[in-house]
Amino acid sequence: MEQYIVSARKYRPATFDMVVGQRALTTTLLNAIRTGKLAHAYLFCGPRGVGKTTCARIFAKTITCEHLGENGEPCGECESCRAFDEGRSMNIHELDAASNNSVDDIRELIDQVRIPPQVGRYKVFIIDEVHMLSQQAFNAFLKTLEEPPKYVIFILATTEKHKILPTILSRCQVYDFARITLKSTVDHLKYVAEKEGYTVEEEALNLIAQKADGGMRDALSIFDQMVSFTQGNVTYQATLENLNILDSEYYFRMVDLLLAKNVEESLLLYNEIVEKGFDGGNFIGGLASHFRSLLVSRDAKTLPLLEVSEAQQQRFHEQTMRCRPQFLYRAIRLCNDCDLGYRQSRNKRLQVELCLIQVAEATDDDGAGAGRRPAKILKPLFKQTVAQVAAASAPAAPQMAANVVAPRQATAAKKAPEPQKLATLNLASTSIRIPSARPQQSPASQPTSPQAAPTASTVTTSTPSATAPKVLDTERLILAWQQFANTLPQSEAVTAQRLRAITPEVTSPTSFSITVSNPFIQKAIEKIGKDIRAYIGQELQVPGVSMDIKLAAIDVAVKSYSKPDLFQKMLKDSVALKQLHQIFELEIE
Ligand SMILES: [Zn+2]
Repeated sequence: MEQYIVSARKYRPATFDMVVGQRALTTTLLNAIRTGKLAHAYLFCGPRGVGKTTCARIFAKTITCEHLGENGEPCGECESCRAFDEGRSMNIHELDAASNNSVDDIRELIDQVRIPPQVGRYKVFIIDEVHMLSQQAFNAFLKTLEEPPKYVIFILATTEKHKILPTILSRCQVYDFARITLKSTVDHLKYVAEKEGYTVEEEALNLIAQKADGGMRDALSIFDQMVSFTQGNVTYQATLENLNILDSEYYFRMVDLLLAKNVEESLLLYNEIVEKGFDGGNFIGGLASHFRSLLVSRDAKTLPLLEVSEAQQQRFHEQTMRCRPQFLYRAIRLCNDCDLGYRQSRNKRLQVELCLIQVAEATDDDGAGAGRRPAKILKPLFKQTVAQVAAASAPAAPQMAANVVAPRQATAAKKAPEPQKLATLNLASTSIRIPSARPQQSPASQPTSPQAAPTASTVTTSTPSATAPKVLDTERLILAWQQFANTLPQSEAVTAQRLRAITPEVTSPTSFSITVSNPFIQKAIEKIGKDIRAYIGQELQVPGVSMDIKLAAIDVAVKSYSKPDLFQKMLKDSVALKQLHQIFELEIE
């Protein structure tokens, strides 16, 4: 039976001509060889799997070849070429600094440097992952690098250029290897598939290339996996399943729902995605990428930044034409913020759901600028609870409530295209207004205030504060809390992120508490406590809101709980979580 060789090795390029996706760089190297203008040291930088070591080897083989071809490629027949191909070359030495990083390893190498080549003109030393050398090894090496013998050429390779000392950088010719483009990767995979006689769907290769993210070695190894999994028939569907990639169809559907402000369906779709076993963090990252793709596909200038197949390009174009740029900017920011806060969030699922709600909200943006939006009305998500709260706290006559609602409905209908939906949410008279900037006006001067409405005479007997619920309720508090985090300027990004990870809890009709993990966060939040209380007071129309900041018990105590225990404990402690647990049937993963 024929011996199986992994594709990354079998199709490792043997000449510069065969190197994929680094054309500019290989041409420069070839020119240097042709003109005989060789430096003493080269530094190849770039992400993993883009061809640094491969190019270093081809370069070494080429400069040691005794009969270079007209095109500057090695002949492959001379003693030096054959010795290289058989891995017994005395003129080419490789050191993997990842595993040989001691000063002794470098001393051994320096000993080799001192011995001139027996045959040929050059001795080439390739040091891979050079940033891994110990400090001592670096120092020992530096002396040699400063004054190398004439016959020596060093090729250093690294994935982490920033870790290379300036003294070394300044002595090397630096080559930056780029990520390999999606198209180059797909083309190469097609070539390999053709050579091997596999059946492949182009969309499947696109997925593999996306997953490999610019690394050819990774792409080929994923490709090998897929070939063995599908027995040589690599389909899109099988690749999706095997690589655990969420079909881009879901993102298109999700954005359609958000554009339609259909929050309920979007949450159900998210639920479907979670039930399929996809991680919420990956999903939100994917959604952010999707919005980014929509943004760059708006303009022919930025279209090259979109790395997808042509069929997909068309779909992105179609969807983006239904979005306003301001919506996309905001959606990207919201998803990115959610992504950043996701790992630290105590309730990850809620974090994603809030983000979806906020993105749906962002469709209202009137384009006057991302920072200053008019007041918005958000459809209450938890109808039952909201209705119950309203009933319990405002036992006003239904007639009176209807009077108050009418003018609001009139103003709202002017702004939004779907008066029907707005009508249902206003009936509960608990609509939430969410300005993106910090509140500057008092509630009385808001344009949506009933007092300013033309039918004011009918409501003079009952001010809005008499009918609106004047108590805090958990869901709206959590929403307002997250919204407040979004109003913070970029300079307060750290605080905003901390706030997002906190879930406030209602402790009385006009007070709530939060729990923080350390005194620093406590101080930071105390500093803006006044702003927080003012914002929440206005958003929820509850005057005189107070906030209690509690310091969590030390971590050790918490760690002693198992995950399900902890969840039970959190359920006991948090009213919000308990309600969410019941409504969404949340379970600990
Ligand atoms: Zn040769």
